[in-house]
Amino acid sequence: MNRLIKFFVRRIPRPVLIRFSFIFAALARPFYFGSKVECPICQKHFSAFLPYGNQGCFNRLCPGSKYMTKI
Ligand SMILES: [Zn+2]
Repeated sequence: MNRLIKFFVRRIPRPVLIRFSFIFAALARPFYFGSKVECPICQKHFSAFLPYGNQGCFNRLCPGSKYMTKI
């Protein structure tokens, strides 16, 4: 799943990604079902946060609220 996200992040222009981020987040949410991490904004639990950025840094973006965790 992370390789798929990295592929999209590197190939699709940033404005398009931002505009359609709600679709990507909705598609990714079932793959992040779990209770390892809790988002401080939406209070939902996931197995991990989504990767973010060109380097594909792990555990950065909440699949629910798209809140970015601290670096
Ligand atoms: Zn959240």
